[in-house]
Amino acid sequence: MTDLSELYQDLILDHSRSPRHFGKPPDANRVALGHNPLCGDRYTVYLAVEGDRITAIGFEGQGCAISKSSASLMTDAVQGKTRAEAEALAQRFQDMVTGKGKDESLGKLQALAGVAQYPIRVKCASLAWHTLRAALDSRKEPVNLEGTEGGGSP
Ligand code: ZN
Repeated sequence: MTDLSELYQDLILDHSRSPRHFGKPPDANRVALGHNPLCGDRYTVYLAVEGDRITAIGFEGQGCAISKSSASLMTDAVQGKTRAEAEALAQRFQDMVTGKGKDESLGKLQALAGVAQYPIRVKCASLAWHTLRAALDSRKEPVNLEGTEGGGSP
């Protein structure tokens, strides 16, 4: 194991044990539910959107270490971003976890690049991001990753 992958392993464990932005922000005005039945991961993502900007984000729910750390890292990454920036980040993250290549611009999110080798884990890692997109779109249907290819766009 390289030092870098150990560092990433620590980051994933840290975020799954002490998730950031856990809970509903008081000024939340968007919400979406996400469910990955293959693993049992289930999260609610809350957003406070003002104009075009995500001013606050939070999540609740439970699941495996990969899904929880991914949700936590996502909230850190998209807080304060515009909708377009958050959607671009979601796309780059999806490309990374489906093995389309490394992306230095993803910073800490690169900790989850390793899931590309484990197709079953790709959905765990991408669940929070699909749920974020659903919240941005104010979709009423919950996100359900059952049957989607490699956690692709629902
Ligand atoms: Zn999972």
